[in-house]
Amino acid sequence: MTVNFASTPEVQNLLAKLSGQDQSGGDARMKAIVRRIVGDLFATIDEFNVSDDEFWAALNYASAGAQEFGLWAAGLGVERYLDMRADAADAAAGITGGTPRTIEGPLYVAGAPETTGFARMDDGSEDDKAEILILHGQVRDVNGTPLAGAKVEIWQANTLGNYSYFDKSQSDYNLRRTVLTDAEGRYAVRSIVPVGYACPPGGSTEGILDAIGRHGNRPAHIHFFVSADDHRHLTTQINIDGDPYLHDDFAYATRDELIPPVNHVENSNLGTKYGVEGPFAEIEFDFDLNPAKAASDEEASSRARVLTA
Ligand code: FE
Repeated sequence: MTVNFASTPEVQNLLAKLSGQDQSGGDARMKAIVRRIVGDLFATIDEFNVSDDEFWAALNYASAGAQEFGLWAAGLGVERYLDMRADAADAAAGITGGTPRTIEGPLYVAGAPETTGFARMDDGSEDDKAEILILHGQVRDVNGTPLAGAKVEIWQANTLGNYSYFDKSQSDYNLRRTVLTDAEGRYAVRSIVPVGYACPPGGSTEGILDAIGRHGNRPAHIHFFVSADDHRHLTTQINIDGDPYLHDDFAYATRDELIPPVNHVENSNLGTKYGVEGPFAEIEFDFDLNPAKAASDEEASSRARVLTA
């Protein structure tokens, strides 16, 4: 078989037909994208002389592992790539400042309890083994003006690297909260220091990573959605400094601006303020939001998410 069989007139004719180019109905952009994707698949089959059995094995693998497609997007760098493109578009448009974005991942759950100013995120079930965390900061615009009533949605793993809802052993919304900023634009939560985690053992993502000699570990991190009227929705994370995988994240989400220092505090007025006696970890992290240029800028991306409320 010739390496460039996909470029022959017969195959190009097939590609035109299968992508609906000779049909008046349908969407022109969709036709072009389908032609590109299927054509690239044909070219890949040519280049690597993919056998029938290999093709069907791959299709079967994807079908059986489809519930992890969100993790595939993270592990194969597609989520990171979309962020890189968005960063490049911002740079080209002269948009500077603002807290950097990074990937969402597939584990957000809507409907977490909402309070103003402060929330405790953990249910106390790991009091005997977890380090207490007080995370606090301010939400501002890019000129430094505090944004009162901004929405800070926070979700994180427990000390086993598991997320409530997906881990049914945890209480509902454990380590998931929404805090609206106070009059000074401040938010604060009492939580626990999360630990990193890996792709589900035996899952389809791990299988791909094993096959290409990669690990599936994420460093410890905390996820955020931050939003405010007339400002651009921010999807980001902070990393817990010192994690062994800090700069070796399987999802490529670590960014230098998103690694705040962790202060280990014996006791302080800050602890007393939030009902913590004794030592705790403190992270201060502020968010700077860019102005929205269109209504859609104020919304998160439209990926499928768990809606429980
Ligand atoms: Fe995560």
